[in-house]
Amino acid sequence: MMDLGLQDKIALITGSARGLGRAIAEKLAAEKAKIVITDINDALAAATAEEISKKYRIETLALKHDVASEESTKEVIKTIVNKFTRIDTLVNNAGITRDARLMMMKQTDWDLVLRINLTGAFICSKLVSKQMLKQNSGSIVNIASVSGLMGNIGQANYSASKAGLIGLTKTTAREMAERGVNVNAVAPGFIQSDMTHVLSVEATDKLLAQVPMNRPGKPEDVADVVLFLVSDLAKYVTGQVINVDGGMVM
Ligand code: NAP
Repeated sequence: MMDLGLQDKIALITGSARGLGRAIAEKLAAEKAKIVITDINDALAAATAEEISKKYRIETLALKHDVASEESTKEVIKTIVNKFTRIDTLVNNAGITRDARLMMMKQTDWDLVLRINLTGAFICSKLVSKQMLKQNSGSIVNIASVSGLMGNIGQANYSASKAGLIGLTKTTAREMAERGVNVNAVAPGFIQSDMTHVLSVEATDKLLAQVPMNRPGKPEDVADVVLFLVSDLAKYVTGQVINVDGGMVM
């Protein structure tokens, strides 16, 4: 098996109790990284961390975390650094949707989505980057969305947050490039998860009609690309957005 350079690396994946975050955690765990599962749902985070630890025989840590809170994020980082002394990988994965057409969208739903999806990634990146700059090494991956590239009806808040995340990725990449830290984004298309299971049959059919590969993606498809970006194979890759979308955006 190819050595991707992840053995014993410390990987923090936000919102990873389930969904894409969990798939990413499992992919990195299979490469023997030590995994920190953080999530607003601490009971599920603890259960997921325990399952992953047993399955891959690696050390895991589960922490309650609200990415939108600077206080909560500081606490999470303090706990990780106290335990493991470093943070090698940050995946800003936590994200939510609150869909409605623009005319009907409540400002509270606009604010909440921007706060968690974009400001949350800003807070985590800012605080973790201090640790990575001390180490002169690290990788950050932001989980954006094709909605941030092409827009999507009913998702003004979500697509604005994901477009913002792409801007954040490129600026952070430029600022940290000289210090051995690479920063990239992955833009998933239509991926099977709890977030998309709630969509109506009509909405699902409309989305699938835009996918040249004519099928939804799996969380593992996204996790494979994240694995590449945080591995030694992508050391010279920074500031990029990689779409994982069956050809939706090309
Ligand atoms: P998901 O199944 O809804 O999982 C998201 C996780 O984040 C949940 O465990 C959720 O906890 C947690 N979370 C919510 N708010 C949080 C907060 N403030 N702090 C920390 N954790 C929080 O979503 P997913 O489909 O796996 O999506 C993961 C990421 O991929 C998101 O950024 C999403 O925008 C992006 N994405 C997904 C798709 C797709 O098709 N699924 C496509 C493009 C991009 P609760 O369960 O308590 O809410």
